[in-house]
Amino acid sequence: MTKYKQVSSGEIFLGKLSFGCDLLEGLTNVCIERNVKLGRVEAIGAVQSARVGFYNQQNRTYQFISLDYPLEITHLAGNVSLKGGNSFVHAHVTLSDEKGKAYGGHLASGTKVFACEFVLEAFNGPRFERGFDNETGLPLWLFQE
Ligand code: ZN
Repeated sequence: MTKYKQVSSGEIFLGKLSFGCDLLEGLTNVCIERNVKLGRVEAIGAVQSARVGFYNQQNRTYQFISLDYPLEITHLAGNVSLKGGNSFVHAHVTLSDEKGKAYGGHLASGTKVFACEFVLEAFNGPRFERGFDNETGLPLWLFQE
């Protein structure tokens, strides 16, 4: 069953991450610094190397792909909610190489920023907390009935 709750726009932060930082950690740190517990994030830029995940639905485990060369961030889209009570960024990225060939997946830690411009939009709304989902084995949003 589809489940959702209404939220409204809050503060919006526009910025760039520092050279060489971890992409996922850098975005998470902005959320912690600005106390963003609910929101969305998007970004473009470039990375020195990347690590993205693919969720194997049968094994219920993430398989990770390491791309150890420069890539463009053609798109990063993600959301911010709570996991274990802490701000948690869930993001997916599409990255392209020198030939324009694209790779993508679940953004994992281990992706090194070359340059990254982000937009972080905070939402006002109810608490969105992640917890174990039986159907998928993933830490999805829990909705009270
Ligand atoms: Zn994901």
